[in-house]
Amino acid sequence: MRRGEGILSEFDLGRFEEEAHERWLHAFESNPSDREKFYITVAFPYPSGAMHVGHGRTYIVPDVIARFWRMRQKQVLFPMAFHVTGAPVVGISKRIARNDPKTIHLYRDLYKVPQNVLEEFTNPLTIVKHFAAEYQRVMTSCGLSIDWRRRFITVDPTYSRFVEWQWKHLYEAGHVIKGVHPVRYCTVDDNPVGDHDLLEGDKAEVIKFTLVMFRFGDAFIPTATLRPETIHGVTNLWANPNVTYVRALVDGKAWIISKEAAEKLVLQDHTVEIKEEVPGKDLVDKTVSHPLCGTVPILPADFVDPDMATGMVMSVPAHAPFDYIALRDLQQQGKYTTIKPVPLIKVEGYGEVPAQDAVERAGIHHQMDSRMDSLTQEIYSAEFSKGKLFAKFGGKPVRIAREDMAQEMLDKYDSVIMYEFDTRPVICRCGNKVKVKILHDQWFLKYSDPEWKQQVSDHLKDMALVPPEVRTEFDRTVGWLKDWACTRRVGLGTKFPWDPAQLIEPLSDSTVYMAYYTIAHRIREIDSKLLTPEVFDYIFLGKKSPDLPEKKKLDAMREEFLYWYPYDFRFSAKDLISNHLTFQIFHHVTIFPKDKLPKGMVVFGMGLLNGAKMSSSKGNVFLLEDAVSEFGADTVRMFLTGSAEPWQDFDWRNELVLSTKKQIERFYATITELKGAQGEPQDIDRWLISRLQEHIARMTAALENFQTRQALQEASFGIETDLKWYRRRLPEGCDGSRELATLCSVWTRLLAPFIPFTAEHLWRELGNKDLISFAEWPVADEKLINSKIELSEELLARTVEDIESIKKLIQITPKSLTIVLAPAWKHEVFRTIAQSTDRNTVIKEIMKNDAMKKRGKEATDAAKQCTTLIHRLPPHVVEPLAKEPLNERAVFEAAQAFLEHEFGVPVHITDAESSGHAKGATALPFKPAIVIE
Ligand SMILES: [Zn+2]
Repeated sequence: MRRGEGILSEFDLGRFEEEAHERWLHAFESNPSDREKFYITVAFPYPSGAMHVGHGRTYIVPDVIARFWRMRQKQVLFPMAFHVTGAPVVGISKRIARNDPKTIHLYRDLYKVPQNVLEEFTNPLTIVKHFAAEYQRVMTSCGLSIDWRRRFITVDPTYSRFVEWQWKHLYEAGHVIKGVHPVRYCTVDDNPVGDHDLLEGDKAEVIKFTLVMFRFGDAFIPTATLRPETIHGVTNLWANPNVTYVRALVDGKAWIISKEAAEKLVLQDHTVEIKEEVPGKDLVDKTVSHPLCGTVPILPADFVDPDMATGMVMSVPAHAPFDYIALRDLQQQGKYTTIKPVPLIKVEGYGEVPAQDAVERAGIHHQMDSRMDSLTQEIYSAEFSKGKLFAKFGGKPVRIAREDMAQEMLDKYDSVIMYEFDTRPVICRCGNKVKVKILHDQWFLKYSDPEWKQQVSDHLKDMALVPPEVRTEFDRTVGWLKDWACTRRVGLGTKFPWDPAQLIEPLSDSTVYMAYYTIAHRIREIDSKLLTPEVFDYIFLGKKSPDLPEKKKLDAMREEFLYWYPYDFRFSAKDLISNHLTFQIFHHVTIFPKDKLPKGMVVFGMGLLNGAKMSSSKGNVFLLEDAVSEFGADTVRMFLTGSAEPWQDFDWRNELVLSTKKQIERFYATITELKGAQGEPQDIDRWLISRLQEHIARMTAALENFQTRQALQEASFGIETDLKWYRRRLPEGCDGSRELATLCSVWTRLLAPFIPFTAEHLWRELGNKDLISFAEWPVADEKLINSKIELSEELLARTVEDIESIKKLIQITPKSLTIVLAPAWKHEVFRTIAQSTDRNTVIKEIMKNDAMKKRGKEATDAAKQCTTLIHRLPPHVVEPLAKEPLNERAVFEAAQAFLEHEFGVPVHITDAESSGHAKGATALPFKPAIVIE
């Protein structure tokens, strides 16, 4: 039987998981105590589908951190709840009700919802309750050390009372306002659309366009523009000959627009009455006119999108690369050759016709060139920042002329405003195209308020942000945030206190719930009807008022809150910086006193699956539950935390996950083998224990900084590599010493946060009765660090490596091996160079010495070689050698038996000057010459 085989047959992650789950059942329920607290939270999930491994990391990293600090003997709180408010599940339930095949496929086949449960999904609350239960089950199966007593869902009546209290404070502070506003809107859901409700287009912004009204017979043809000042340069309009337009009465006037535009205008405060269809081809070659540009023709263009604004485009070929190139294409076919671009803006760095200049300079030959967008942007920016209108058009700088012209057109030339997205498509979760709607009774959180922003910026300065690079992104978000539409008409959630027909939208009811966790398990005991704002004022702010109900219970809650709050760290993926993670600071600074404001945030990278972005809607996901049952929870945990640092993107690949499993197996086999060793301790044991102290110190520092990958490198590969060397160095017939029991105990504890199931099992095997989850984290003992032994072993290991590479090179069967040690004077040279601060002049200094002078070239050569060697050796080798030479002879003599055993030949140790070997001259300190014969 091969070594370890019998042991590995006992390695059964499934069994370890069962054992641990039973022992952990209530273990992580955490109450205030006299210990120092450590409170971490994760952005709670919206349980509308199954968890994939990308979600897995979001919860497993904080769990590793929670387990680490728990073993550091802090009182750790790691709670979890479920965010079920909003419209998405309403859309899902509707699609399931109408048997939408895509949705049914996703839920039945990918998320594996049983048919009888799926049938009940026509009720949205059933969906979230089903997946909340599933999330809890999967989270538990991953070993998350959560205090489940505090679990809640965001439509619990007590939670709604809490949100009402929160909003009362926001309102009283003047942050909740009512106004007219263009918002993203889904006409199927009849509801504004939040970031979370989008299938596509979450980067799209609502842009305000001016419609330039061209006269077309008795009607208008409106074209949308961001650059009304270029009206003087219009040479033609573009219409799509393949599109059927409509003639419609808009606010009583006849317009020719696309059908899509007609639908959009209805949502933007216009009355629209469609009269008849107008084929696009019938518009081509007709003319339109505008008082500011005269009469121009309508030209055909396939690129005109009926779903962009009005579906008609005005053409300014002198200043718009798209127009320029489209006109050029037509002219190259011999059509419309009399039309010439009409320049009207002078801009430094461009010729008379900037668009032509830019297109020709870039060598673009056709409209479909992918660089067209960036070229358009380039001209737009250049003209906006540096451009000036020609004197005959008023001579104003573009930035001023643009606004003046927009106003003039609104006042004199029948123009109106139209809102449209800057990029498309924008698709709702229900599959419908999202449009822009102007809402009149829309409520907003006034994130644009400069004073509020300042409070947030001031507090951000005091927060720990991990990794530090995200700070600029937070600062940018605070600066850029605009008013936020905070109510919806459809969905689940808390009623908006000042208009009960509306609901508080999901990104606005989930900003201070970290405070609610501290009392979630206790507040349930009080009837939600009794939970007035005064009750919460007392619990969270200590404000006393007469007639508070259940005073004893409230006191207990106040005590919990005071103990746990503020939270120490909040974890989330980086895509939440631009909304949730920043919003929560806005809300906290308004409601809580300074000493209860959040302390830190850790922001994660994204998950990839075989190199591609994970996406549930595209089916490119690996379900967390499948991963756990296929590879074991510990494997999943170790892979997700060890393959990249939390803020880096990680890539799930099954073959790499399998090698992680092998790593855990090796760890398990090693501990099982080593734990019973009884030998007498040798020097090499002192080396092993000395190295272990350094691994402990480095791993602890890494975890304090959330560097899970770095920590695992130390604890897994670092210790494994040491043990390999240790076992090689053991005398024949010796299985290791009693010291290994210490190593087993320390090593198991170091890995416990990462692979808690295997660790709990081994911990018991090592003779411990209590849970390793609460065992004391190892502390590095400086007294056990023996740098002399470490240096000796390093010399030996490097020499062994040298011998191996020489053996490979010479390819003879060696009969003997001679290690030639450098003479004392070279050690002196080495030390002088290592100690010197100026390595350029030190050789001259050395050569001033008479004894060295006598050696002449030999000494200069040695000095140069030592300099090179010192550069190559790591500081932990050079520093001690600079202080004191190592007795290399003693090191090799003590290891003679080892070397002879390793290489199977007699080993001689000799001094360079007494040996006759020519190679002896190359011997250097810490790098003896090696002679193989
Ligand atoms: Zn929708």
